[in-house]
Amino acid sequence: MDQITLLGLKIDRVRVVEALAFIEDRIHRRDPAHVVTADASMVVLARQDTELLGIVNNAELVTPDGSGILWASRLLRKPIPERVSGVDLVAHLCRLSAAVDKGYRIFFLGAAPGVADAAAVKLRDRFPGAQIVGARNGFFTAEEEEGIAGQLAALKPDVVFVAFGIPKQEKFIARHRAAIGASVYIGVGGSFDVYSGLVRRAPVWMQNAGLEWIYRLYQNPKKISKVMTLPKFALLAIRARVTGRS
Ligand code: UDP
Repeated sequence: MDQITLLGLKIDRVRVVEALAFIEDRIHRRDPAHVVTADASMVVLARQDTELLGIVNNAELVTPDGSGILWASRLLRKPIPERVSGVDLVAHLCRLSAAVDKGYRIFFLGAAPGVADAAAVKLRDRFPGAQIVGARNGFFTAEEEEGIAGQLAALKPDVVFVAFGIPKQEKFIARHRAAIGASVYIGVGGSFDVYSGLVRRAPVWMQNAGLEWIYRLYQNPKKISKVMTLPKFALLAIRARVTGRS
């Protein structure tokens, strides 16, 4: 895998088709993998959170999620060809799961009560036959975690999507992947909010122009803390370009 280091974070220079091929291979071989979808906020958070940094740098695949990452990769002369976002991986894997010869078993874990179930209903409609074997919200106590991991293990999923936001989802995966026993774990942030219809995704032109964050902030002003990491990310990238240390 072609890999770069971007402001201290390992990122695999993969396209969507390559990421999917990697994931399917791990499912077929039942060889567990944590797939991190890294965006600009993760780069900033990981610089202050050594646990998160360790998890990302040890993950089996780290995809470039977000136009900020692509922008910085060009600025630092390590260009990444395309975005591989968590929200896109959810739809692609549901589509593959619906194929009769594949039938990957998928679990949706995260978001507010009812949201993961609603996303599962919508995605089953869109991809008839998709094997979404269960869904559960992402609000529980630390004491409940082990029980939840056990419930997932009983369903024998191939793929577990965890949507708690960064860094909670990455830390949960690192803690419980062995107990759950699935092949692939992917932290997918607000994806269930999007597929359930709770929030709308930015128009494609805004995504392409790197303006998705404005749209998300408009829909949910609570995202301000995440948006505030963007200027910091830009400054870090510009400083790295100037000093030649990236
Ligand atoms: N969430 C959750 N459990 C928590 C905190 C958050 O399941 O303890 C959910 C929240 O409902 C939302 C998602 O995690 O669906 C985070 O979405 P966000 O868009 O903030 O994630 P990002 O992709 O920006 O990291």
